[in-house]
Amino acid sequence: MSKPKVAVSWNSSCGGCDESIVDMEEKILDIAPKLEFVLWPCAMDFKYQDIEKLADGDITVSLINGAIQNSEQEHVVKLLRKKSNIVVAFGSCACFGGIPSLANLTSLQRMFESSYLSSPTVVNEEEITPVADCPDGAYQLFLPEMHRSVSTLDMICKVDYYLPGCPPTAKMIANALTALLEGTLPAKGSILASDKALCISCIRNETKPDSIELKEIKRIHEVIADPELCFLAQGILCMGPATRDGCEYPCIKGNMPCTGCMGPVSGTDQGAKMIGSLGGIISSDNTDEIKSIISGIVDPAGTFYRYSIGASLLGRKRNKNG
Ligand code: SF4
Ligand code: SF4
Repeated sequence: MSKPKVAVSWNSSCGGCDESIVDMEEKILDIAPKLEFVLWPCAMDFKYQDIEKLADGDITVSLINGAIQNSEQEHVVKLLRKKSNIVVAFGSCACFGGIPSLANLTSLQRMFESSYLSSPTVVNEEEITPVADCPDGAYQLFLPEMHRSVSTLDMICKVDYYLPGCPPTAKMIANALTALLEGTLPAKGSILASDKALCISCIRNETKPDSIELKEIKRIHEVIADPELCFLAQGILCMGPATRDGCEYPCIKGNMPCTGCMGPVSGTDQGAKMIGSLGGIISSDNTDEIKSIISGIVDPAGTFYRYSIGASLLGRKRNKNG
């Protein structure tokens, strides 16, 4: 009997999702021999032509990480969808847009200006910026065209399962692949992670008072955080109330507050949920004092939607430059 075929593909992301597969350590030795990898650009030299030659639906599962930001990524994603029985949005960039989708808060033109012209570390005296096609002597060179907006995977193709996390933990990946091999995957459309908020399982949950009275919001680098006490109880912004559980809270264990990388709990908007949670604990009836307290949130969009703006109620900021 032939082995299930697996494709792993990488769009706009940092590579951490691929790294997390390797982080399965010896567990990968149990699972990998039962699978046939047909695409994994980060690890093996396959060609897209090899995928094109496969019959439609021949790939058992494609694990697609990263947000979609250009024409090449869109083409490959649609090709994998056609050739795959199951498509998994792998990691928070594919699920919710992730950090790359913060680009939706500005225009493509401004992003190019920042990346290629104005950033302090850029040296580009001829002010060259990428173009989609460029004559070079007898040749014509092509680059993928950038999209105006960064998209989640399910904005580009149908997604069967979601595996959130930045990156998903090795345990979550092993569980998903084991369920695939054993035929025990849940109904299509499911998120392959807990559906509770992080606070519920957090090791500091017992130190979270029933009623918090927030008089000041402090940033983690401004204080020496108590290593046992709930961050919110210390006035340090922690995204735990609005973030999906399942990561085994490595940040909290390292005495850092949660920044929300597992994305929202089902049916919620992560930023709106966190703003609602904060609204309930800011302790003042005075408008000026409330303004002063929330001025401690230096980058609201980057704080509340760091990993999920692509899938959020905001989606993207519209301005006159598009
Ligand atoms: S707010 Fe943060 S530290 Fe407090 S219980 Fe929730 S996840 Fe844990
Ligand atoms: S604690 Fe928060 S930021 Fe850290 S890994 Fe878990 S979900 Fe991500």
